[in-house]
Amino acid sequence: MDSKERLTLLLHAANQRLTRQRLLILKILEKSRQHLDAESLFHQAREHDPGISMATIYRTLTLFKEIGFVQDDRLGENHAHFEKVGDHPHHHFTCIKCGCVIEFTAPEVERVMHRLNHDQGLVITEANLSLVGYCDPCSKSGISSNE
Ligand SMILES: [Zn+2]
Ligand SMILES: [Zn+2]
Repeated sequence: MDSKERLTLLLHAANQRLTRQRLLILKILEKSRQHLDAESLFHQAREHDPGISMATIYRTLTLFKEIGFVQDDRLGENHAHFEKVGDHPHHHFTCIKCGCVIEFTAPEVERVMHRLNHDQGLVITEANLSLVGYCDPCSKSGISSNE
């Protein structure tokens, strides 16, 4: 199943349709393979559809998040970055010096979720482990300089 089919199914389950603008946002998310914030999504979307508004971008991203099609992470900043939910859940480390983003998996988090579900009946719909700090090259350059 490609992501258009997946999105159509998820939207259908939420009584929503795949509109032209929703499809456009999907295509941008898919093409970028990065963590886009709403602002850069908006700029890219406007190149294809000058009539699209920032409000539509926000509404669409909120909807995509609710139906589990995208995940967001602040990546060390004060606004969210979005990406398509892949087959494997992952988390992010962001370097505060160079801004690089490193993705990692954390089976431990999955285990905690499983335990909370088992012991306390919690149904967890979202889990973000967002780590911030210095990447390897940055931490090394920081130690060798006199900053
Ligand atoms: Zn760095
Ligand atoms: Zn990611």
